[in-house]
Amino acid sequence: MNKLVSIVIPAHNEEENIIVIVDRIEKVFETLTYDFEILVVDDGGTDRTLEVIEDLAKIKSNFFYIEFSRNFGHQPALKAGLDYAKGDCVISLDADLQHPPELFKQMLEKWDEGYEIVYTRRKEDKRLSFKKRATSKYFYRLMNSLSDIEIEAGTADFRLLDRKTVDVLKQFKENDPFIRGLVKWLGFKQYAIDYIPDQRFSGASKYNLKKMRKLAIHGVTSLTTRPLHTAVYLGFFFSFISLLYIPYVLYAYYIGKHVSGWASLITTIAFFGGLQLIILGIIGIYIGKMFMQGKNRPNYIIRSTNLKDIL
Ligand code: UDP
Ligand code: MG
Repeated sequence: MNKLVSIVIPAHNEEENIIVIVDRIEKVFETLTYDFEILVVDDGGTDRTLEVIEDLAKIKSNFFYIEFSRNFGHQPALKAGLDYAKGDCVISLDADLQHPPELFKQMLEKWDEGYEIVYTRRKEDKRLSFKKRATSKYFYRLMNSLSDIEIEAGTADFRLLDRKTVDVLKQFKENDPFIRGLVKWLGFKQYAIDYIPDQRFSGASKYNLKKMRKLAIHGVTSLTTRPLHTAVYLGFFFSFISLLYIPYVLYAYYIGKHVSGWASLITTIAFFGGLQLIILGIIGIYIGKMFMQGKNRPNYIIRSTNLKDIL
């Protein structure tokens, strides 16, 4: 019996890409001795993606799909894929063909060698727009400066996960899981493969600077509480500085200079007002996360699927 490889593809408005990617995946597996299944997660799009995958499911016995009830986002879509994939390992990749399926062979070789996680590292692509490269760089820099787990630049959600690791991830009851960080955090034997990404085949990227920033903040706050520690250190630092100020205040009072100083006063008030708001904000983000977690809502809702045993 050949081992079963599940291919998980989150898709949000990717009508033009699905057929092409499925075709390329099938070509790759023609040369390999694994069985495979493809699981596309339709993340509430507005185009014909769902029709395309429903048609494919009619003619292919190893093609499955899950349709979300609305757009839940890339990470929840990926989580759904992992939850319902049946393979001995799961390979996740984007629907837009930036992640070349031709890399599967190498990934599977490493898996056979005993690596439980084979992730990929995108090499700097000169053809990507400057904006995309800059936002991506800014994203990883922000992430890493603030969290304990280092996420290497260019590691997107194109990776192979062994059944063992998928089962661990499935147990996570986290609200809005940040899979990129969780995978690094899991440990196991990990191996990195470098690759040069292709151009997006069709359609537009769903990530802009705002979404990237949101993802970065989400990533940091779901991996670590280090920002809270920073707040404490800042507090100590400024308390200490203000102690140094006390002798001057007393001296100024003594020589009768205590009325002047409006400018320095207002600057200090504004500065600390801002600082306090920032720190309150950071605390607020964490409380917000606890609030959302407390509700225990599902990460995604399935509207339809051709998988058996669900719904
Ligand atoms: N995606 C998704 N839900 C979303 C946004 C994106 O499932 O809300 C999917 C999208 O279809 C693609 C992958 O996530 O397969 C990565 O998205 P995209 O290519 O837009 O990101 P980029 O490559 O620009 O970082
Ligand atoms: Mg893309």
